[in-house]
Amino acid sequence: MQRVDVVIVGGGVGGSALGGALAQRGLEVLILERTTEFEDRVRGEWMAPWGVAEAMSLGCYEALVASGGHHLKRHIAYDELAAPEDAAARTIPIDALHPGSPGPLCLEHVRMQNTLIALAAESGANVLRGVHDVTIQAGTSPRVSIRSASEVSDVACRMIVGADGRTSSVRRQLGIPLEEDPVDHLIAGLLIDQCEGWPEDLQAAGKAGDIAYLVFPQGRGQIRLYADFDLADRGRFAGADGAQKLLAAFDMPCVPHSEAIAKARPIGPCRTYPSQDAWTDRVTTEGVVLIGDAAGYNDPIIGQGLSITMRDARFVADLLTSRDPWREGLFAPYADERRERMRRLRTVAAYTTRLYARFDESGLAGRRRAFDRIAKEPAKALLALAAFFGPENVPADYFRPGFLDELFGD
Ligand SMILES: Cc1cc2nc3c(=O)[nH]c(=O)nc-3n(C[C@H](O)[C@H](O)[C@H](O)COP(=O)(O)OP(=O)(O)OC[C@H]3O[C@@H](n4cnc5c(N)ncnc54)[C@H](O)[C@@H]3O)c2cc1C
Repeated sequence: MQRVDVVIVGGGVGGSALGGALAQRGLEVLILERTTEFEDRVRGEWMAPWGVAEAMSLGCYEALVASGGHHLKRHIAYDELAAPEDAAARTIPIDALHPGSPGPLCLEHVRMQNTLIALAAESGANVLRGVHDVTIQAGTSPRVSIRSASEVSDVACRMIVGADGRTSSVRRQLGIPLEEDPVDHLIAGLLIDQCEGWPEDLQAAGKAGDIAYLVFPQGRGQIRLYADFDLADRGRFAGADGAQKLLAAFDMPCVPHSEAIAKARPIGPCRTYPSQDAWTDRVTTEGVVLIGDAAGYNDPIIGQGLSITMRDARFVADLLTSRDPWREGLFAPYADERRERMRRLRTVAAYTTRLYARFDESGLAGRRRAFDRIAKEPAKALLALAAFFGPENVPADYFRPGFLDELFGD
């Protein structure tokens, strides 16, 4: 039977980043990836500054930049409640928010996956693609049974990592359910090209009419658009004309240059997902640890999934290459840190949702109250900056129960 140190199920961003780092540090790694080619499923393409710092620690940042990674410098919250010049006067210099990072990094998701899986292979990880069925056995002698197109084989290892995304089969086989927030808003995404007129260093987000919009330039005239919208409009951007409808929604009078977006060319699918948090406090059991979306995910409205995944991979890589890596309870510090990190990011997502993605009368009234309170006391908006410099770098008081109700309530 084949024996390796670590089997990683899932060779997406998390599995490949971790696999590459472990192989660079001398471990024998097998990465099992279901697809033979990655495709645009509409996923994360904006990595927060704190996630960029984690990518640097993992040793994959340079490769991401070399394959086209594009840094953004400014954030403007253009919004229907603010005159464009007032919003511009409050520009946030996002390239200077985190001391260990030159700002958010944008890169097409498929390119990010291809770069990281190639780097993992170059670093010495064994990468097996087209794997259909993976059965895991947790415990003191973990095992993985693999069914590829032509054969079934068993691998013994010292640790299994579940990095197989939102619908993780590793998590399912361990019987770990996710807790989920109710879905009341959805998120649609689209990649566009030939967007002449939108500044390439500027990201923008806010509310305009019946969408909460996000604009992330990827460089070379390309932009990733996301729109959060009400669950009641669930089919709004579906079907053959979904992309055109999304583009039309981005012609927003309160957002300068947005007419350039509405005229651009879609170059990928337009997909809609629930915009919600899903989490578990159980990210490890004997012989197995979960990372990235497999371990639970944050509402994409604040674009934290890649950074969460990079932190997970860095943390687990450090533990697996520590002085005594195979002892019981190895992952307890990771589980503790992740539990609090995800709790805090749920608060940031709830804040952002209540500020930008509430479309009924009572939600709009709450949003106006919060805007007024923030105008009088700007420090109340510090919570939003957790999405840039990391949730652990914002005082704990912002995450206490009741903070949001005091901000939005009457
Ligand atoms: C609409 C939307 C927008 C988003 N926007 C952002 C954003 O702007 N910024 C941000 O940071 N995050 C964003 N995210 C989140 C981000 O994309 C994810 O958190 C991140 O991709 C998670 O990486 P992962 O490696 O854990 O999972 P995935 O990227 O899902 O990778 C899992 C891999 O496992 C493979 N796999 C699955 N099952 C098996 C199996 N049984 N055997 C073998 N392989 C398997 C899959 O093929 C895949 O390659 C967004 C998410 C959504 C849905």
